[in-house]
Amino acid sequence: MAEIIMKGSEVAASIQDSLTGKFANLEIVKVGARPDDLSYQRGIIKRFAALGFGVNIHELPENISQSDFDSEFERINKDSSNQGILLFRPLPSHLSDEKACKIINPFKDIDCMSPINLAGVFAGVKNSFAPCTALAVMEMLNYYKISLLGQNVVIVGRSLVLGRPLSMLMLSENATVTICHSKTKNLAEICKRADIIIAAAGHAGLITPEFVNDKSIIVDVGINLSSEGKICGDVDYERVAPIVHAISPVPGGVGAVTTSVLAKNLVKAAILQA
Ligand code: NAP
Repeated sequence: MAEIIMKGSEVAASIQDSLTGKFANLEIVKVGARPDDLSYQRGIIKRFAALGFGVNIHELPENISQSDFDSEFERINKDSSNQGILLFRPLPSHLSDEKACKIINPFKDIDCMSPINLAGVFAGVKNSFAPCTALAVMEMLNYYKISLLGQNVVIVGRSLVLGRPLSMLMLSENATVTICHSKTKNLAEICKRADIIIAAAGHAGLITPEFVNDKSIIVDVGINLSSEGKICGDVDYERVAPIVHAISPVPGGVGAVTTSVLAKNLVKAAILQA
């Protein structure tokens, strides 16, 4: 088995310790109630309750008009009783995600919806908010003392919420980053040469033993349903974990860190607003 199994619960506990004695309020905004959102919401409530942080759930009606949504979102933006806002997306198809991203107060935008924060991540602006999952990957590597300095990192996935901002965070830690995607040729060969592989494709079983070597360090960000209906990552864990140096499992890996990073970003938002 891999020498290091990177456990999300250990990383989350360490972030949680660093937040002891702090306090802030989060406003979760959602339109209607989707099952995916509910499990994320439960995770946030549990984590924040352990920290003593406040969470207010603001559920808007499924059929809310664009103009009513905009004015409600503006009101929450200005409400000084919250220091951070998390909007569950995608919004229903009659509402504009893009508009919401432009409306959110960048100082309350703790999961990097706003183009201002995204630009800040790309420009290396310290006070900007990066997406929580990308930060969770960085926290995980940092907790397990895996340095990025001069390392060859391959990120499989180029989304704006994950692969691309993560590549910028890693570049700023002096990694050499290759971003791959569904049109990449010879993906297995490229991954096999990497020191660190970040699997963020959303494709169950994509990373097989052909993609790795005995020194590979793998962070699996994928969340998929297996053919047996179980939660799994992008890595064929059973076959890959025994032959690599370090690996994060799914479940129990990055997903467990994300809500702690959300709490950390909320505290940062409260400090910036003060
Ligand atoms: P996304 O927007 O669908 O992007 C997926 C990316 O992976 C795209 O760039 C796509 O390439 C690439 N890709 C898909 N299949 C591929 C393949 N066979 N080979 C190489 N590249 C491939 O997804 P996302 O929002 O970034 O999320 C990615 C995964 O992370 C999902 O499983 C999601 O559930 C999970 N996730 C986890 C957390 C967490 O807390 N752990 C949070 C957010 C997301 P193209 O650009 O060419 O289409």
